[in-house]
Amino acid sequence: MIDFRIGHGYDVHRFKEGRALVLGGERIEYSLGLEGHSDADVLIHALMDALLGALALGDIGRHFPDTDEKYRGISSIILLKQVSALVAERGYAVSNVDITLVMQKPKVAPYVDKMSENIASALGIPRDRVNVKATTEEKLGFTGNMEGAAAHAVALVYKEK
Ligand code: MG
Repeated sequence: MIDFRIGHGYDVHRFKEGRALVLGGERIEYSLGLEGHSDADVLIHALMDALLGALALGDIGRHFPDTDEKYRGISSIILLKQVSALVAERGYAVSNVDITLVMQKPKVAPYVDKMSENIASALGIPRDRVNVKATTEEKLGFTGNMEGAAAHAVALVYKEK
């Protein structure tokens, strides 16, 4: 018998001048970055919340508080590796993950393969078990008017019993 668990994650960060734009562990060339305590990698944050959700372990705010100086400017890929270790500690493996970035600009299509590779590597799973896609909201709402970027993620984990 296989014990499956599914989790969902959602995150938003505000655009800010003078910040690097890091998404899926990739530095994206753009005039704006995302504001946050860590590198503000909204895509990885949504994914971590999905994985923690699958295991009923709360959220990233609980595991990596933004009041803790040790997480200032940290690469979210490092945090993802720590979440991956939590999954393994509980005897689960990641089946697959699917992430949707919601952002008006810039276009990230040239980067999504590398983002998927970064995520697969951090999770220790094959590249074909990670999907990263991006959409706009047709210039509507806070992503459409470039106030910020959002990301949704789902993750399936399993344990053989
Ligand atoms: Mg976040």
